[in-house]
Amino acid sequence: MTALDTRRRRTPAVTQTRWVGDASCAEVDPELFFEPGIAAEREAKEVCAGCLMRQACLESALALPIVSDFGVRGGLSVKERRRLRRGQPVPVISPSMARVLASRDLVEARVAAGVPLKMVARELGVGRETLRSARAMWAAQDKAVAA
Ligand code: SF4
Repeated sequence: MTALDTRRRRTPAVTQTRWVGDASCAEVDPELFFEPGIAAEREAKEVCAGCLMRQACLESALALPIVSDFGVRGGLSVKERRRLRRGQPVPVISPSMARVLASRDLVEARVAAGVPLKMVARELGVGRETLRSARAMWAAQDKAVAA
């Protein structure tokens, strides 16, 4: 792997140290954000969907020269960021994250009943990372409300 490849394959959470504590991708394999294919792209977007730094991440990606802009960042693929640069509409949240966000009571009841996250995710038809991201977002929101 060249130095350029190494630089390209780091997520914003890794390259932007001020985000590390808050970004959902801080604990995720950076390769996920650069893997080709729809399945990997969807999984990366699910991580981004619950990320508190999503807007800042997207803005930083859009500030890059197009030739330096790779992978899923700010919840969008390269193609979607190009559309955004051209002023065209892009999806703002994945369908699976929308499903989780609409099911908070169900998710919390199942988790409180001791059902493993993997099982709850399967019941909702979403990935575990989506569920984790949503729960992290809910926890952060609850904390902000309580402060
Ligand atoms: S939006 Fe996605 S890529 Fe950007 S910091 Fe958050 S999880 Fe990482």
